[in-house]
Amino acid sequence: MIESLDHARALDRNDPLARFRDEFWIPRRGDGTDKVYLCGHSLGLQPRRVARAMEAELEAWKTLGVDGHFEAEPPWVTYHETLREPQAALTGARPIEVVAMNSLTVNLHLLMVSFYRPSGARNRIVIERQSFPSDRYAVESQIRMHGLDPAECLVELGPPGGDLLDESVLEDYLAREGERVALVLWPGVQYATGQRFDLRRISQAARGAGARVGFDLAHAVGNVPLSLHDDGADFAAWCTYKYLNSGPGAVAGAFVHERHHGDDAIARLQGWWGADPATRFMMGPGFTPAPGADAWQLSNPPVLALAPVRVSLDIFGAAGMERLRGKSVAMTNALATFVAEQLGDVLAVVTPTDPERRGCQLSLRVREGRATGRALFERLGALGIVADWREPDLLRFAPVPLYNRFEDIFRLCEALEHWAAGR
Ligand SMILES: *Cc1c(COP(=O)(O)O)cnc(C)c1O
Repeated sequence: MIESLDHARALDRNDPLARFRDEFWIPRRGDGTDKVYLCGHSLGLQPRRVARAMEAELEAWKTLGVDGHFEAEPPWVTYHETLREPQAALTGARPIEVVAMNSLTVNLHLLMVSFYRPSGARNRIVIERQSFPSDRYAVESQIRMHGLDPAECLVELGPPGGDLLDESVLEDYLAREGERVALVLWPGVQYATGQRFDLRRISQAARGAGARVGFDLAHAVGNVPLSLHDDGADFAAWCTYKYLNSGPGAVAGAFVHERHHGDDAIARLQGWWGADPATRFMMGPGFTPAPGADAWQLSNPPVLALAPVRVSLDIFGAAGMERLRGKSVAMTNALATFVAEQLGDVLAVVTPTDPERRGCQLSLRVREGRATGRALFERLGALGIVADWREPDLLRFAPVPLYNRFEDIFRLCEALEHWAAGR
């Protein structure tokens, strides 16, 4: 636990990652002081280098016109390839398995076209009951696209009680009904509760039942270490505007496991950027897929929008996910311990207590109920402490190791304590 402001500042002074805060624009209060920004799970902050990176592309467009495709640095025609290695490093994938493209829900759809292939009695998709609405809508519409009925084919698993869902609930379901399941679509980290799932265990259970398995990593990528290849996921997708700090609506990522590459029979929506670059510009009628995940691309990539992703991945490369995770665990533990020990009678920690079962996010529920919770959320906002509110009654805080300080945690704890004492 953080004992005092001096203690917090000492922790910050000894933090080898502290300098990365200077890479970011920190939103300010009216009086010019830095806000306590704990909302990186929703929208990550802007790296200072982003403006220059985008200006460089605008300049290349201005001065080179169409020649920018080959003469810009890096050339636009292969720009997306520069994101391959760093995305692979963050997700535990082989470079050939990942691609930056589109946005998250779009990628989920493109990947479900390939990996939700209902056949006879094996026609169900299993998701978790609290899944993010967009994922649920996507899955429902995929089921309908096959002429099937979500009331029969969409299975939503929830915890028998409480907020947290043990992997065994999915395993038990698959043991009973596995032959009916075509696809399991699961989050890496649950957006509302902050619960982190064991992706290897889920992959094994799904594949053991003969189903495909895909992960939505919106709240996992850049937050917790991932090993998609070894865990055996068939596919995964993620956005880059949360922990990856690439800006509102930024270009998303996708993963397709190597074992599906070169499968000529795979169903896939096609566009020219998914064609093999060796023949793409011959403009012939035949589609030869590009090697690896690139084959799922449709259009030529939005270079202006990829520039921030490139900057962000560069920062992650320099900081290192392992070091980030170490700091993340320390910060979140400090907050969780404080809340449990000092404020346990007024605030319930919804997120798992075991650091292995969570990322940096901590979700809290005010025991008195929704109205008091809302009031607390608004009070924090007035103090320049940026968290977020999820209906019906959750407050979410994400201490992000790239730019948050132990001092931020201390300030939040102090504000929570004053609020609790003054109630
Ligand atoms: C943030 C988030 C989304 C958002 O989808 P977009 O297509 O990027 O708008 C979808 N699913 C989950 C689980 C999310 O956390």
